[in-house]
Amino acid sequence: MKKDFNISFHSLFAITNLPVSRFLDYLLQSNNYEKYMEKLLAAYNPVAAANVMCRNTISVGWDGYIYDCDFNQMLELKVDCSNKHILNFDSNELRNRSIVINQHCFGCTAGAGSSCGGAVT
Ligand code: SF4
Repeated sequence: MKKDFNISFHSLFAITNLPVSRFLDYLLQSNNYEKYMEKLLAAYNPVAAANVMCRNTISVGWDGYIYDCDFNQMLELKVDCSNKHILNFDSNELRNRSIVINQHCFGCTAGAGSSCGGAVT
């Protein structure tokens, strides 16, 4: 960055990049997927897991469908409820649902957590 654009960093914040979409494509194409997932697993932090945003927040898509978080929204993984649309909003059902999890969730539970409920350190 310094050489090409004369940009230098004096204070750099970093957050975990979840293995989804373009970053997942990159990991697979560059044969870095397993190494990255091993890193996330090795950095598992139960405190970060206790604070993931899907435990107290939902995401609502432009079309009214409800997701556990914006990552699940990006992956089109709707909430595990019979009422998946905001028109049929049922706070009781949502409060008692099982959160839809997958491999990308290890990004939220690694280290200090991802941007959703974790800290940038
Ligand atoms: S990616 Fe997984 S752990 Fe993270 S907020 Fe979404 S559902 Fe929860």
